[in-house]
Amino acid sequence: MNHERSGELYDRALSVMPGGVNSSVRAAIEPYPPFIQRGEGGHVIDADGNRYVDWVMGLGPLLLGHETPESVQAEIQRHASQGPMYGMPTEVEVEHAEFVARHVPSVEMIRFVNSGTEATVSATRLARGYTGRNKIVVMQGSYHGANDSTLVEGDAKEHGPSSAGIPADFAKHTIPVPFNDADAVTEVFAEHGDDIAGVLVEPILANKGIVHPIDGYHETLRDLCDDHGSLLVWDEVITGFRVGGLKCAQGKFGIEPDVTTFGKIVGGGFPVGAIGGKEEIISHFSPSGDVFQAGTFSGHPVTMAAGLETLKFAAENDVYDHVNSLGEKLRSGLTDILAEQAPEYTVAGTDSMFKVIFTRDGPNNLSGECAGGCQQDEDCPRFDYCPKTGADVAAAETDRWRRLFWGEMKEQGIFLSQNQFESQFISYSHTEEDVAETLAAYEQAL
Ligand code: PLP
Repeated sequence: MNHERSGELYDRALSVMPGGVNSSVRAAIEPYPPFIQRGEGGHVIDADGNRYVDWVMGLGPLLLGHETPESVQAEIQRHASQGPMYGMPTEVEVEHAEFVARHVPSVEMIRFVNSGTEATVSATRLARGYTGRNKIVVMQGSYHGANDSTLVEGDAKEHGPSSAGIPADFAKHTIPVPFNDADAVTEVFAEHGDDIAGVLVEPILANKGIVHPIDGYHETLRDLCDDHGSLLVWDEVITGFRVGGLKCAQGKFGIEPDVTTFGKIVGGGFPVGAIGGKEEIISHFSPSGDVFQAGTFSGHPVTMAAGLETLKFAAENDVYDHVNSLGEKLRSGLTDILAEQAPEYTVAGTDSMFKVIFTRDGPNNLSGECAGGCQQDEDCPRFDYCPKTGADVAAAETDRWRRLFWGEMKEQGIFLSQNQFESQFISYSHTEEDVAETLAAYEQAL
């Protein structure tokens, strides 16, 4: 494959943008990332004309793929040409808020913002303002965006900022615990319960290789929050409107968080975030409450139209059936390939998300393993080997994945996410042929 033009663009980019990119993970591809010229259905074409099956899908927002249905396209164009924005409220914001409140079990009221980061920053402030407490519990290694309150590393006893520029005095209010470890978080609540404003957690660690929750873990978090008057905040920036369809992961798992953060799909491919929950809590945002929150672009009409029309299209068509069935085919096909070629590796994912994690060790006998991707089933022979925490994923062969495997897949025309931690996403534009081509490439590359 020729990447001359991408190389030239990267060279220019390095002179005017830090690391040559506008978001760090894009530079994870070495020696430089392909620069994308356009999308077509489930594919992208780069600046040198190379075509790939695209499983990155904008890192999650593109539920429908690169081919926007006519109804969605028309509303985006209409709003773009009639404004595009006003700094005043519009009808489409109200309609979108009503749609989300109608479908997502725990949401009565919602505030739209401009990114997932802004959503988790605002949700953290809301939890602190609502409870009058400072401490936030997060999962070790989880990612909630460029949020000063969550860019923290370490453990419950010793932790500090994971980025320069965040005061240690600030990071000390955030307590990291290992995902899926009920004892660890129970201990933290026993020690700090009265000071904990909230637990911020993804229903599935979707930004760390995809780690499924162990049965009962989210129920433990729900109970601890209830017992101590803390808010349970679910970060559904990735899982929202992807896992569990229109009810989101909370509908699938049957847990009602107090607050939910959204992003990605809820904006239909345009910059977005949102914070939803019970009216009694969300109304603490200004101007009805005393937790300050504001944004020039919040509820942008083009974004609202794109998000609302995308979700309406999904509600009226077989979108979730299509993406979830391709997901099942991919994950079970990968499970079969791994059994033959790399039995120590783990297939992860659910609904329209998938990933192969290069775990270092596996069982001798695979009979009865989870066929559709790791579900943390205690009866699965892989149970003792599959990642339970972010640290388990980090301990897998992340360099082999990124430096060797990613490039081999790319050479076969398959575009996977930029490293082993980011999930891969299936869209309504993907086809059975894309799945077959991808499985053949995995077979070759593994
Ligand atoms: N929360 C989660 C779970 C995410 O995966 C991300 C980004 O990938 C964010 C928050 C931040 O969203 P954004 O990149 O839109 O700021």
